[in-house]
Parts: sequence; C-alpha cells; structure tokens
Amino acid sequence: MSDGLLVVGVEVDGARVDVRCARGVVTAIGTDLAPRRGETVVRGAAAAVPGLHDHHLHLMAMAARTDSVDVGADQVAGADDLAQVLATADAVLAAGEWLRAVGYHERVLGKLDRWALDRIVDDRPLRVQHRSGHLWVLNSAGCRAVGLDDADAAAGPRGGGDGIERDGTGRVTGRLFDRDEWLGERLPRRVPPDLGRVGRRLSSYGVTGVTDATPTRSVADLEGLAAARRTGALAQRVRVMGELARDDPGLPDGLDAGPVKVMVADGRDPDVDGLAERIDGAHRSGRPVALHCVSLVAAAVALAAWDTAGARPGDRMEHGAVLPPDVVSRLAGLAVTVVTQPAFLFDRGDEYLDEVDPEDRAHLYRCGGLTRAGVGVGAGTDAPFGPEDPWVAVASAVHRTTRSGRVIGPDERMAPLRALGLFLSDPADPGGPPRTVAVGAAADLCLLGDDLQQTLADPMARRVVATIVGGRLVHED
Ligand SMILES: [Zn+2]
Repeated sequence: MSDGLLVVGVEVDGARVDVRCARGVVTAIGTDLAPRRGETVVRGAAAAVPGLHDHHLHLMAMAARTDSVDVGADQVAGADDLAQVLATADAVLAAGEWLRAVGYHERVLGKLDRWALDRIVDDRPLRVQHRSGHLWVLNSAGCRAVGLDDADAAAGPRGGGDGIERDGTGRVTGRLFDRDEWLGERLPRRVPPDLGRVGRRLSSYGVTGVTDATPTRSVADLEGLAAARRTGALAQRVRVMGELARDDPGLPDGLDAGPVKVMVADGRDPDVDGLAERIDGAHRSGRPVALHCVSLVAAAVALAAWDTAGARPGDRMEHGAVLPPDVVSRLAGLAVTVVTQPAFLFDRGDEYLDEVDPEDRAHLYRCGGLTRAGVGVGAGTDAPFGPEDPWVAVASAVHRTTRSGRVIGPDERMAPLRALGLFLSDPADPGGPPRTVAVGAAADLCLLGDDLQQTLADPMARRVVATIVGGRLVHED
C-alpha cells in the first residue's frame, strides 16, 4: 500500500527542488528529500506547476460525444456527405434506436429542420445537435418518439418562449432550443456514458479539476458524475453549476457546488427583472452566479440585471464572446469575472473573420484588454463544443491566431505565463491569482518534461509528463 509520493528534482518557482505529497496535500518542498518507505517516487520531470483547472466544460456531453456521429463542417460538406456519414452510422444500430449526431454548422446544409432530416433518415429517430450546443434538430420520427408535436407551450428558457420552434402555420419544425432536460426526460435511459475515457484524456493534459458548466437539475446526471469521482474513473475534482446543488442534501458526495448557471436570453423582450430575481435567489442561497452571455445583447441584459440585483464575489460571465469597452468598464465596476474561451479564436477564428462585424473583431474573446481594464479573467475550453485540450487555449491567448494563421485582436494577446494562469486560478475564483506549488496546498500537480521557460515558449499538452491529483499519480507518460 503506497503511502505518499515524492517528486524528485523539479523546477518550482525557478528553483530545483523535491516535492513531497501526503494525505492529499504538499507536505514538504526542499532539496535532497530522502524517499521514505512505501512512498511512490516520481523522477524525470523537469518542472512542476499546479494542476490545470478547466473553468468551463461539459463532462456528460464530452462522454456522450464518443458515441455520436460528428457532422461538423470539417467532417462533412453538403447533403450527400451528410447522408453518407449518417447512413454509415445507421447501419450498425438496432431497429428503432436513436441516431445521434453532433457538431452541425449551417455551412454544411443551411438551416436544418425536420423535413430536411426526413429526406436523409426517415425510418428511425434522429437528432442532430448544433455546434453551439444550444439547438437540437429532430427528424419526424424523432419528433414522434418524444411527443414533440403535442408538447404544450410550457414556459421554457428562451425569452419566455418554450424553446420549441413552430412555423407560420403552427407546425413544429423539429428545432428545439435549450431544452436538453425536457428532451432527456423523454429519451430512452442509456447506460451512463463512459466518463473514464474523458478523465484519462483530461489527465493527459495535466488537468486536475474542472467546473462543469451544464445547468443540470437532473439528479441522475449528477449521480453519474459523483459515482465516476468516487470510483476513481474520473480523477479530476468536479464543481457543478446546477441549481439542484443549491440545497446541500441534493448534491451527491464527491461534487462541489459552483456558481448557479443561468442562461441569458438574447431574443426580443429581454426579461431583466426575471434575471435579477434569479441572481438574487442564488445569492440568497449563498452561491454566486455564472451568467451565460454569448452575444452583446445578452451581455447588456446581464449587466442591467446585475445593476438591479447587485454582484457578489464569485459572480462570473461565461464566454463574453463580444465585449466592447463600455461593457468592460461596467464589468470592472461590478467586479464580475469573465470566463473566456480563447481556443475558439484558433478553432473558429477564420469563420469569425468572415462573419463578424469588423468593429467587433477586436472585442472577440478578449484576454489582455480585460486584465488591463481591471476585470478578472479565467478560462475554460467549453469542451466538447471547443477543443478540449487547455494548452490550445493557452497558446491561443498568447498568439490569437486562427487555424490559417491570421491574427484576431492582437492587443488582446497575453504574456505566456499569464495565459497559463487562466487555468491555474482557484476554482472558486477563476479571475484570481494562480495557485502555487506550496506546502499546505492541495497536492494537485502537472509535471512538465521541459523547464517552464521552454514550455511557455511553445505551450502544448505534449509537454505534460505526469499528473497528480490529491497526491495520487493519475497519469504518467
Ligand atoms: Zn458551455
């Protein structure tokens, strides 16, 4: 039975030291620490930094993606291609089984609806998720399977609507916005998706903790995450944003309560008062809020609601994809942190340059400018909707280059150490200072094969040689 762990000869804060971990924390840092009986000894790494914390991702969606068909614009081009990849997946499914596709973008086949999908697959239920993660499109068999045609217009999350799109004559189009929970209740219960694979991939990037930004209220989903934590299938510490976590008894063992996630609608008739009430409710229950704001309109609605309800420490804006200067100064005034996704600049930047208003380009996924304006900033990957490797985001915050090498918002570049710090801040304070490798701190470490300076010169996951969570070695190259 191993008892404790000793990392030998690594650079920490510029000095070459040994780091001893026991009972989940760092207990000693010094030179020539002698290995103790039963201690696991880790040699060969060049540097140690705190384990990375991904401040915004979606674990269940990452796991579910493994058994979905990728219909992203990189995979398919046009109707024939789409039909072919769906037919290939269709061939191995049992009769009546759902076909699940993800990553759809309008570039493939324009705006999808049930009738467009029926022309491709009409004999089994099919659902296709938009790349944004906020829209599912169902074919007619899918609509029938979940009773979408007869769904009542119960209040949903989108601007007071029910999230169920209807055409001019009142027919359901098969397009369902932000109704994952409604949909989930009507889909056949599947075996829990494999979080083990997700955990192993995260460990290979040096990620020791994550904040799951899914606004889930489903106990089953939270139980799935908690069970994966307890069995060790998922090595990472997990904070969740669901409202269920509001009352402690509802939060399963093994999970931490993060802020309450609230989607901010950006349609007509924004409900500022309703949003202010939800902010106030979260604050009263002792939790900060995480307001999902992709558009400028949503950011404005969020700011107005914060003006009414007040902001408290830990409140954050998710994405903040477009933040012009006046919005930034109001965020600074409210002391609200922005949790951004710089990797979208790399992953989708070429599209942004084609599609986004020239005026707004400098305000996309800002980094350095937020820091200069006094706004706290942390980062997440938004996986599986963005690249899940956080080192892609770090490099993106440094260079701000797209896949084709064009640069977006050069003034928003960050120094490499600061960019890595976007993933080193405390889970409860994403915009705060980076955690440190220090005696008494949690023994969550990312070990690098190169020294820190070399690593920062060209940040990439390949440099991670071992990952330690709570003093336990969970990944070794
Ligand atoms: Zn997200």
